[in-house]
Amino acid sequence: MKVSVVKETAPGERRVALVPEAVSKLRAAGLGVLVESGAGDRAWHTDDSYSDADATVVSRADALAADVVLMVGKPDAATIAAMRPGQTIIGLLAPLTDPDLTASLAAAGVTALSMDMIPRTLPRAQPMDALSSQANIAGYKAVLLAATQFGRFFPLLITAAGTARPARVLVLGTGVAGLQAIGTARRLGALVSAYDVRPETKTEAESVGATFIELTSVGPASGEGGYARALTEDERMAQQQELAGHISRHDVVITTAQVPGRRPPLLVSEDALKSMAPGSVIVDMGASPLGGNAAGSVPGETVLTENGVAIIGASGLPSSMATAASAMYARNISALLLYLIKDGELALDRDDELTAGVMIATGGAIVHPALTAADQISRSDTTTGPSSAGQPDEGAARAVPGSPG
Ligand code: NAD
Repeated sequence: MKVSVVKETAPGERRVALVPEAVSKLRAAGLGVLVESGAGDRAWHTDDSYSDADATVVSRADALAADVVLMVGKPDAATIAAMRPGQTIIGLLAPLTDPDLTASLAAAGVTALSMDMIPRTLPRAQPMDALSSQANIAGYKAVLLAATQFGRFFPLLITAAGTARPARVLVLGTGVAGLQAIGTARRLGALVSAYDVRPETKTEAESVGATFIELTSVGPASGEGGYARALTEDERMAQQQELAGHISRHDVVITTAQVPGRRPPLLVSEDALKSMAPGSVIVDMGASPLGGNAAGSVPGETVLTENGVAIIGASGLPSSMATAASAMYARNISALLLYLIKDGELALDRDDELTAGVMIATGGAIVHPALTAADQISRSDTTTGPSSAGQPDEGAARAVPGSPG
């Protein structure tokens, strides 16, 4: 069986699905590995380094003819058009927020396995958890971006030229990215507070050095699978208002809040922004075309408010550390691949919880139960942009189209 790695086509994407070390492991397991020429260039892996690891460096057309095509992100239309029924594609396909892509893959007759659908709480899935590996990188890089933008020190500094007080950093959302952000900001010497709507994260946040903030106006909002549930309108308003008081007392706010398959919740309102001191910094890791965790954030841009608050719309953070991100992702995707292979061939057992969890399309149909639920964000919604208030509701948008067949 041949697996291949193609060069990512998304603008600004620097990661690659396999690094040479992972190629060696797959070769040792008896797989043929094809790598599109230049696929690893932007993560500093040359064609020669793949050849040395016993991969065959090929054209894109040849790579796209492999039995299994490995990617980091989503395939573009030309990539899907070049594939044939019966092939398998594995990548971060974001089916909950891009159902149209899943429909295209099903229509092409390929089997699509999405790395972001791995059931993360299954112990055997831990080595495959690409959401966690990439969120770790994003949380780390978000703090570095904040420290670079911030006009003062993060640590307490006592020098002959005066004393600098430590920066006060607030991390909103203490999942994987938030916990890494807390740890990184602490290592830089900042005083760190944190908040999450899932109260069970308190001990985790405290264990990496944050003071946990508990809101009195919003109760626990733990949802399914260890994630948060979407808040009601009343809860959202109460949360924003109470958070605003805390936000105004911080120099740097890093927001990481997500609810799977939904728009990111707005945590830093216009009023909260106005209450912050000039020179304060927000890093919004939820920044998206639909709006992010902070009012007015723009993905990929730094916006300066009238009162001098910089809002960094942090998108593509894992890609900005492409070598580390690719190494981790390669381990995740290789672990999944090796798990799915029996006697040198892909053996997709849909009675297996892990396999069924990642499979979104096969045999011309969309097959994942979550994709037939009526509460996903559609691609058409993402093109409408934020509401006039600058932030749409975080609620559901429209039903995912069913199987194209
Ligand atoms: P995520 O990226 O979906 O969300 C980030 C954080 O935002 C979460 O902690 C969530 O509670 C928080 N959040 C959402 N809405 C919020 C709001 N309105 N206000 C404040 N905070 C809000 O989550 P993630 O980091 O990918 O993972 C979340 C959790 O999933 C983990 O903390 C863990 O419990 C679980 N998980 C488990 C495993 C495992 O069992 N091995 C692996 C990975 C993740």
